[in-house]
Amino acid sequence: MPDDAGAPTLRRGALKSYSWDGVEPRPYRAEPDARFEGVTRQVLFSDPRLRGELRYFEVSPGGYSSLERHAHMHAVLVLCGGGRCLVGENVHAIGPHDLITVPPWTWHQFRAAPDQRLGFLCLVDAERDRPVAPSEAEREALMRQPAVREFLAGR
Ligand code: MN
Repeated sequence: MPDDAGAPTLRRGALKSYSWDGVEPRPYRAEPDARFEGVTRQVLFSDPRLRGELRYFEVSPGGYSSLERHAHMHAVLVLCGGGRCLVGENVHAIGPHDLITVPPWTWHQFRAAPDQRLGFLCLVDAERDRPVAPSEAEREALMRQPAVREFLAGR
């Protein structure tokens, strides 16, 4: 019987942050009405000669990015830790080296597992439209899907 019953089991290295020389973690940039928790952003590459940006996001255990959609796409590559993501109406368990494509105008959110960080690279257009959050009606429509409802509730 463990003497710390109920404490989360931490995998070795699961809580280690990634960092790059000369790159400061910045606050996660989201719309003012967006709901999110425990997310940092590092811009690794941004140069007008290439019309893309490469960012690294890290979500702390139990945290989540905003539920949003937009015209631009994301290509996401998980580097460390684990969790789940919602893309459209599909929930996926994700871990290191998984590649997630978020098509245009598709609802998406990334959630770290309760006991792990979730660190991922995200490639986007340098010039891109602002994300939009779901309206009340859109949120209700999403919540009608049982898997999506459980995901959004963090279960
Ligand atoms: Mn997005």
